[in-house]
Amino acid sequence: MINIAAAHKVYNKGKANQVNAVNGIDLFIPDGQFVVIVGSNGSGKSTLLNLIAGSVLPTSGTISIDGEDVTKLPDYNRSQWIARVFQNPLSGTASELSILNNFRLAAIRTGAKGLTIGINEAFKQKVKTTIATLGMGLENKLEQPMGTLSGGQRQALTLLMSVMDTCKILLLDEPTAALDPRSADVVMRTAQKLTEEFKLTTILITHNLKDAYNYGNRVIQMAEGVIIKDLDIHHKSKLKQADLFDWFG
Ligand code: ADP
Ligand code: MG
Repeated sequence: MINIAAAHKVYNKGKANQVNAVNGIDLFIPDGQFVVIVGSNGSGKSTLLNLIAGSVLPTSGTISIDGEDVTKLPDYNRSQWIARVFQNPLSGTASELSILNNFRLAAIRTGAKGLTIGINEAFKQKVKTTIATLGMGLENKLEQPMGTLSGGQRQALTLLMSVMDTCKILLLDEPTAALDPRSADVVMRTAQKLTEEFKLTTILITHNLKDAYNYGNRVIQMAEGVIIKDLDIHHKSKLKQADLFDWFG
């Protein structure tokens, strides 16, 4: 669970260009929830995600994960729990390295245990089996350089890499914004599948309300650094997609 209490983030405090990017947010997210955050540009969405990831420290307030104040944890500790995927498919992977070597790097980064310098057969099999769940046939292309794949394939693999092993929280900041619609669908379906399979808590920032409806079970709208709407959409039978457009469009 993620618990945010009275969080504020002020950039350039006391200067003429001061920005109150996050301006008093209380938010509780139980385990396993797929939360979608919407809101216009500059409303503080990325800052809120960065606060949870720990890449931005709050000016005041607390952010805790499973009861532990993460603002006091060292980076390497948080990176075991939190995976992040950004807008640009190229930023998550190394083009010149093979799929397998990218997975190996990711495993080392998240501190997976029992890894030796060489690629052992058990790890290779694990990667193969995991990649097969994407249903894209990429498990037969493990030696292929990442740079030869499409943007959608790379984003799907980035997602997969980021959640293997120890990860509990998946943070997605407009992961499909740079993709064509078909690739975007693949990435969103992958995010959903991984959330269920690895029992992750997922937070997605998007401008796409259709994705919010299809994949989220809670939609939060931000404006000027605060939460202005927070809607449980878990029971889709009671809610039509058009209702969501009425609410958040
Ligand atoms: P969103 O993701 O909703 O577009 P952001 O969290 O990126 O919003 O930004 C919220 C506000 O904080 C904006 O006014 C933005 O210009 C400002 N901001 C974001 N990051 C920084 C930073 N590192 N330094 C100064 N201002 C920032
Ligand atoms: Mg943003």
